[in-house]
Amino acid sequence: MKILEKGPGWSSKQKCTGYGNGGGGCESLLQVEAGDVYVTSNTDYLGDTDYYYTFKCPVCGRETDIPEKDLPSAIKKEAMENKIKILTRERNCLDY
Ligand SMILES: [Zn+2]
Repeated sequence: MKILEKGPGWSSKQKCTGYGNGGGGCESLLQVEAGDVYVTSNTDYLGDTDYYYTFKCPVCGRETDIPEKDLPSAIKKEAMENKIKILTRERNCLDY
């Protein structure tokens, strides 16, 4: 099929807060698009891995987690399948 004009697709207004990543975001309001979302993971001491949907602020470079409820399942699936960037990092339990 030929795409004549691509639709706007999903995007969401998100604030750079550093949520889930130690805080300290610059409070910029950003229009996050599907390609901006990538998956990060954290494995706890029991060996359970949790996945988070994250974007990186172009202003200050901090990462912020997007609440899952703000993401359509298609976007989550795409982020998971593409595994654009899987980062393992230490999380501070106090974040949650
Ligand atoms: Zn920022």
